[in-house]
Amino acid sequence: MSYRDVEKKYAFEVYPKRDITLVRGEGATVWDDTGRSYIDCTAGVGVASVGHANPQVARAISDQAQTLITCAGIFYNDTRARLLEKLVSIAPAGLTRAFLCSSGAESMEAAIKFARHASGKSEFVSAMRGFHGRTMGALSATFKYRDQYEPLLSGFSFVPFNNIDKLRSAVGEATAAVILEPVQGEGGVRPADPEYMRAVQELCAKKGVLLIIDEIQTGLCRTGSMFASEYYGITPNILCLAKALGGGVPIGAVLTSDRITPVVGMHGSTFGGNPLACAAALATIDYMQEHNLDDRSREMGNYFAEQFRANQPARVRELRQIGLMIGIELKEKATPYLMALMEQGVLALSAGPTVIRLLPPLTISRDELDSVIGKLLQVLAK
Ligand code: PLP
Repeated sequence: MSYRDVEKKYAFEVYPKRDITLVRGEGATVWDDTGRSYIDCTAGVGVASVGHANPQVARAISDQAQTLITCAGIFYNDTRARLLEKLVSIAPAGLTRAFLCSSGAESMEAAIKFARHASGKSEFVSAMRGFHGRTMGALSATFKYRDQYEPLLSGFSFVPFNNIDKLRSAVGEATAAVILEPVQGEGGVRPADPEYMRAVQELCAKKGVLLIIDEIQTGLCRTGSMFASEYYGITPNILCLAKALGGGVPIGAVLTSDRITPVVGMHGSTFGGNPLACAAALATIDYMQEHNLDDRSREMGNYFAEQFRANQPARVRELRQIGLMIGIELKEKATPYLMALMEQGVLALSAGPTVIRLLPPLTISRDELDSVIGKLLQVLAK
């Protein structure tokens, strides 16, 4: 039986599968089990920002695995301490502590609990088209994928993104927090307007409402800054991180301001802060800083946009790009073009029915990016 058939037989399948079996990766390239290579503009959905099989990260994982692979949160640990210090040192101003967990949804769960705990309130306002994860709390803040799971947590409401008046009328006495992505990822790669983000921050400050910014997809150089919050000039009270943080090893983090007071027993996680994931995250952040991946993401993203716009095919409605977070909205369904791109050796994502989304490793070379642009233009022109 092929690996594909084995998965087909045994997996509790919840994903729309593409018909290739990936077995190896290096930098921005992945290989399937027949030896065919692809330029990977999915990067594990925005995870492999420092490239597949990054040697610095691989070495850190191997060293830590041979030193101390797990350490419960009831003990202090050297690697965890170093990661916590590093996270706070790179965080937007005002974020002074971090809670560590193992995924994006888990960091959103913690953020919701922390906001309820700190405010004594239980209502949240988030955005239409927003995505914050699939667990029941995170899903309660998410606009899509919820129908089959009602009732979810009560007290969550949704407003149109980039509309400050609607947000103003939705925030009330009982609101604990506003939850937003600075660039909606799953919702179609839709950046917030800078004036909107500043107005959101002002509104939250004026009303005493906490601002939770979900940087699970945008965080760590993806949008051309270490955090998109920096680009927007905002200082959230809670910032959620995951995806790129561990260079491929599962890890999430919730960064908090002094308005959120930790209390022993209020939350916990067996794997949260384990030294293996912490070592991977430390090596990932070090690599990003040593190689200026924030600047690189911005420059390569702008280069992509320039080249693409100069030859934009007629079936493209709009290109939305910030750093190497790229959405190409078509006037028709995206799936046939994703499949045609795969045939041409480029792996890309969707973000809703009509958007092709590219989240390549931030280490992608100019030649590889040129090849992606050429193949995209070719496939979209047909
Ligand atoms: N929030 C955002 C903005 C995301 O893009 C995602 C995942 O795509 C999540 C939350 C959920 O993260 P995870 O899949 O690690 O639970």
